[in-house]
Parts: sequence; structure tokens; C-alpha cells
Amino acid sequence: MALIVKKFGGSSVANNEKLLNVAKIIEKDYKAGNDVIVVVSAQGDTTDELLEKAYSINPKGPSKRELDMLVSAGEQMSISLLAMTIETLGLPVVSLLGWQAGFTTDSNYSIARIRKIDPERIRAELAKKNIVIVAGFQGLNKYDDITTLGRGGSDTSAVAIASVLKADLCQIYTDVDGVYTADPRIVKTAKKMNEITYDEMLELATLGAQVLNNRSVEMAKKYGIELEVLSSLTPEVKGTIVKEVVGMEKMLIRGVAKDSNVSRISIVGLQDQPGVAFKVFERLAQAKVNVDIILQSVGRDGTKDITFTVTADQCNTAIESIKKLEGTLNYKKLVHDESVCKVSIVGTGMQTHPGVAAKMFEALSDADINIQTISTSEIKISVLVDTKQGERALNVVHDAFML
Ligand code: ADP
Ligand code: ASP
Ligand code: MG
Repeated sequence: MALIVKKFGGSSVANNEKLLNVAKIIEKDYKAGNDVIVVVSAQGDTTDELLEKAYSINPKGPSKRELDMLVSAGEQMSISLLAMTIETLGLPVVSLLGWQAGFTTDSNYSIARIRKIDPERIRAELAKKNIVIVAGFQGLNKYDDITTLGRGGSDTSAVAIASVLKADLCQIYTDVDGVYTADPRIVKTAKKMNEITYDEMLELATLGAQVLNNRSVEMAKKYGIELEVLSSLTPEVKGTIVKEVVGMEKMLIRGVAKDSNVSRISIVGLQDQPGVAFKVFERLAQAKVNVDIILQSVGRDGTKDITFTVTADQCNTAIESIKKLEGTLNYKKLVHDESVCKVSIVGTGMQTHPGVAAKMFEALSDADINIQTISTSEIKISVLVDTKQGERALNVVHDAFML
């Protein structure tokens, strides 16, 4: 007998037929004598639809507290519907909201971090032989307000439960049968991986491969939880295992990813003197803007330019906060471009191989795709390209390394 945590994403529970399919997957594990905890996301596009509704009332953005109150309802619906479906199979089941399952978080509404899980209630329900269905993506802060964990956060809920209860298995069911070398919906030549390391998966997830939420991977690594990513439509097909060390041959590049949630901001004609970059980025930090790629031009005629990227939803906040520096910061103009996307290659193998960057840039050049900005680390290279060329860029870079 084992303790199994299974997480099902929105597409896996999108309608009654899919709910029944999921219920049967759960039934199999339960009838084999296992304790089963199931974490679910909101059905289909529910979260997006709820957000749309909220912004139709207040286009400038409702308060984050109320947004969390609203979007957490999506998971409340799906856990009860899944529990009802399992009831029709004649099995004992109970659904629990985040707070009932013991999730405490910090108070950063919409991107809250889990502080603690008190698994008493889950344990009690398992002891009663119930299948336990837990709402992903949500928790409670110290003010007893509902919080959510950021988009895709149900993955993190599942990994957190698996680590607290020391589960034997943590399976993430989605609409693809594993982690591929690129998003298989965009790159037809993408190949499924049997295994991938936490570090590479973390990098891919952070760079836009939404198949796993990056915080869930971070947590899995921290607590040594092996994850299996597999499809709820073909549950018999072995998925991809995410773990510390993988046995497969050392590959130069493990995968490529695209992130379209990017905006580029340039401050042109800044004074070329000490303290300027500090002023800019201190201001952005105060406004809680996460800056990604940073590029500074060489000074010329006493001026310089600073270009940086932020997530698209933080673009306005970033611009407003720079404008507030007027008087203390002199520059000629402030420009931004939202039609950019980031294409990245990831692989621990590249540390020891020269020529990886050249190969990536050659593929883009052959495809006549202009690189706007480049950034590198030990295990990744990212470039910024025009959004319209994003999918093609992903394909040509993928094929240059993987075929
Ligand atoms: P869920 O609702 O189950 O959480 P998501 O939509 O969050 O599902 O994640 C699954 C999707 O991730 C897939 O449909 C696929 O298009 C996308 N994806 C992006 N990159 C990859 C990759 N490298 N491997 C597999 N899927 C990927
Ligand atoms: N329903 C939430 C979202 O759409 C959480 C999740 O899917 O993991 O982001
Ligand atoms: Mg997801």
C-alpha cells in the first residue's frame, strides 16, 4: 500500500466525460489498496473566464484580495464536481478547500507562497478510508483571507502535499503525455523525454514551458519529491520523470522554450554617470517589478541607454515608476515594446561545450529572424525576438539542436 498524490489540470477535468475518466483513474489506485490524495485545478478555461469577468467590472484591475476570492471559486467547483463523480462509482470521497486541507500562505495575493501545511484533516480523512480531493492553487493567509498561488499553482499544491505527507508517488496529469524537448503543440518535431533533472526542468518552466509550474519544480527539488508528468487521456503510457540525476546520455541541449509574457522597456539617453542604474532598478524593486534581462549600452557623448524586460502584466507599473523619477533621473525618452517574446535553450551540457550560442544564432540568422537582445547563464541562452516570429524561432532553434 502506498500514499499517492495525483494532480489533474484544468483540461483533464473540463467536462463530465473527462471527470468520469479521471474518477476511473483514481478508482484504480484506490481499489489497489492505496491512500489517494487528488489535487485539482479549475475546469478548462474557468480561471481565465473569471479573470475576464473581474476586469470587465474594473478594467484598471480590481483589488488582488477580491480577485483571489473570485478565482479560487474555480477550484471549489471542480473539487465538488469530481467528488460527485467519484460518488457515482460508489466510492467514499471528500472534497476539501485549500484552508480545510491546512494550507497557510503569506499575504501576497495572486502570487502567495505556501508557509505551512497542517495535514491533520487530510490524515483524518485518509484514516476513514476516504479518497481526498483537494482544491489546488489556494490557501489562507494570517488574516483568514483566501489567497492564490499564481497561475499554474495547482502543481505546487500537489508537490507541497506530497512533501508534507511524504508520499510515495506524485503524479501530475495533464493534456500531453510528458515533458517534451519543446511545446509539442508548437514544435511538431519535439520529442518526449523519459527523464529530466530538476534543474533543467526548473529552467524550462521558468522560461515558459508551462507544463509544470516553476515553483512546483523548485519545491520538488528541495524536498526530493520525484514527479511524473503524464496524460490523463492515456494514463497507461509512461510519462516523464523529473528527478535529481538522470541516467540518459549527456545531451548538449535538453529543451527549448518560448515565453510570450514579456515586454521590453528602454530608457534612452540617460546620463552616463555613477548611480544611474541603481536609481532605475531601486525604483523598480520598490514597485515590486521583477526585472529579467538587463542590457546597458556603451556610453557615448556622455549618455547611455538601459534596456530591460519585465512580464507583460508589469509593463505599466514599470513605466509609471520610472516616470516618477522625473527630476532625479534625466533621459531623452522612455520607450516600450510589448510585441516581443523570449526564446531560450536549456541544458547543463552547454557549460562545457563552446559554440552552442553560435549554433543558436546561426539557426535564427538562416531563418532571417532578428535577435533583439541576448542573455545567457551557465545552463541557458535566451534571445528576444519579435512576437510574430516567435513560433518559427522556437522551431528552427529546436531543430538545429534536436534533429
Ligand atoms: P494543466 O491544465 O494540466 O496544468 P497546462 O496547460 O498548464 O496544463 O500545461 C500543459 C501544456 O504545456 C501542454 O498542453 C503544452 O502545450 C504546454 N507545454 C509547453 N512546453 C511544453 C513542453 N516542453 N513539454 C510538454 N508540454 C509543454
Ligand atoms: N486554475 C489555476 C490557473 O489556471 C491554477 C492551475 O491551473 O494550476 O492558473
Ligand atoms: Mg498547469
